[in-house]
Amino acid sequence: MKRVPVLVVGAGPVGLALACALWQRGVRARIVEAEADRQSGSRAVQLHPPTLQLFRELGVLDEAERLGLRIRSTSYHLAGGRTVRVVLGPRNEPLMLPQEHTARLLEGALELAGGRVERGLRVTDVTQDAEGVSVETRGPDGTELIEADWLVATDGVRSTVRDRLGVDFAGSDVTTGFVLAEGRIGGDFERNAVHYFLGQTGSVVFASMPGGRTRISAPVPEGFPIDAEGVQRLLDTRGPGGLHVTGLDMISSFTSQERIAVTLRKGRCFLAGDAAHTHSPLGGQGLNLGLQDAHNLAWKLAGVVTGTLAPAILDTYGPERHQAAEQIVRNTHLFLTVFRLGPAASRIRDTVWAGLEAAGVLRQWFVPLLAGWRVRYPDLLGERGRPDPRRSALRAARRLPAPGGRAPAWVPEPPAGIPQFRLVARGPAGDGPVRAVHAAAAAAPVPVVPTYLPGRAPGFLLLRPDGYVLAAGTTAAELAAAGRLLGRIAAAAPVRPKRPAVTAEAD
Ligand SMILES: Cc1cc2nc3c(=O)[nH]c(=O)nc-3n(C[C@H](O)[C@H](O)[C@H](O)COP(=O)(O)OP(=O)(O)OC[C@H]3O[C@@H](n4cnc5c(N)ncnc54)[C@H](O)[C@@H]3O)c2cc1C
Repeated sequence: MKRVPVLVVGAGPVGLALACALWQRGVRARIVEAEADRQSGSRAVQLHPPTLQLFRELGVLDEAERLGLRIRSTSYHLAGGRTVRVVLGPRNEPLMLPQEHTARLLEGALELAGGRVERGLRVTDVTQDAEGVSVETRGPDGTELIEADWLVATDGVRSTVRDRLGVDFAGSDVTTGFVLAEGRIGGDFERNAVHYFLGQTGSVVFASMPGGRTRISAPVPEGFPIDAEGVQRLLDTRGPGGLHVTGLDMISSFTSQERIAVTLRKGRCFLAGDAAHTHSPLGGQGLNLGLQDAHNLAWKLAGVVTGTLAPAILDTYGPERHQAAEQIVRNTHLFLTVFRLGPAASRIRDTVWAGLEAAGVLRQWFVPLLAGWRVRYPDLLGERGRPDPRRSALRAARRLPAPGGRAPAWVPEPPAGIPQFRLVARGPAGDGPVRAVHAAAAAAPVPVVPTYLPGRAPGFLLLRPDGYVLAAGTTAAELAAAGRLLGRIAAAAPVRPKRPAVTAEAD
């Protein structure tokens, strides 16, 4: 029996994205899927900008843009008749794409990279020791035992792997039921937009979809009719009036849960996607959260498997992604609470909402939060000890983010190809600083792509391959500390591939 470096269990979008990213980095991962056919149906449709960044890296962004629909604004229609319309701006615009397309594009990219989904193989048992993982699968040809160095469970909310590992899925059920419908709605409302109708008799959300279709979702009481008349009743009683259902493609009802696995790593096994966390779909965060698990894990696991990074880097996956999941579960819980308020509380909500809009809080804080830019990681890799307050103040004055945050908007897109660590420095124009940043990157124990931005306040950011800030600073001592940090992350005797070329960008 041939042992594989990584086994991915479950070919939903998260497993596909992870397997694809591993193959692109030279890791020949196996991916097995219980079902014989591909996933169908629209399910999660809203892809937020950090997910689109991942799609760009995986090479599927152009096709996703071609098939999907960009959302330009979000409108909150308050009970008193007032509408708060927020233009999202290019950095925050989500793309609406039915999940079946997302899965198909990711599978195509996986195949292009050399991988292949093995369908009809259901994982039934998992055991592990310090050396590796043994996985029992059942398929049309009977039982097969697969040996792997590492396993990633992306087998969905009812994960067998999580169960077999004995990892508790802590949390509770959400008591509110939802109706979800898609089809054509006639009448006057802005398309390319998401509309939240927050009425005193209840709420309803309309989201524009590709092909002139609209998704409608709303919390409903038990026994509410799950049919076209029921949807029309929601439009009439909770919507703006004057809208009519002209044809439904699908309608269903669902309940959800708010749960996070107590640990996202057990020995040589990792949990990602719905196998790791689940919450109410309000705000369209679920699939995005799972795809960012894949983004976080792929470079670390590939680095360890290919011998570039020290295995200790894998210890950061669980705490980082658990914190991200906690943030999202907390936020979606809050959205749901705001969504279900009764008449008295909804009057207060409307006043607060209008106030937040007037103060610019919706645009500057809430919109990036919904887009997924505000997820932060704990700084697990930085040097211990008290931060120098003068240095922190200088960094803040120069608007350099702290480690654990995402790269800010002024950082240019990474060059095409497999994402690497990046050293993005800025300062006075001239050849000297460009050479200095080049030299600092060349001295690093792992491949680092240098970029210099002339004509800005001096400072640097060391970015991880997934775009999060690893270190930031304004002094030579801080740059040296960032080099030591990379030394701790790198494997003791790394394989050093050819270095990418330096880039200098005009302001
Ligand atoms: C009706 C519906 C509507 C939804 N709407 C939204 C929404 O509006 N917004 C949102 O963000 N999210 C929504 N979701 C959730 C979203 O679809 C999930 O977050 C997303 O699919 C998670 O992807 P995943 O890859 O982690 O898991 P999944 O897509 O569930 O994939 C898991 C895969 O693992 C396979 N598998 C399971 N067990 C085994 C096994 N033992 N061995 C091998 N393979 C196995 C399964 O067959 C499946 O293909 C919705 C879900 C449903 C069902």
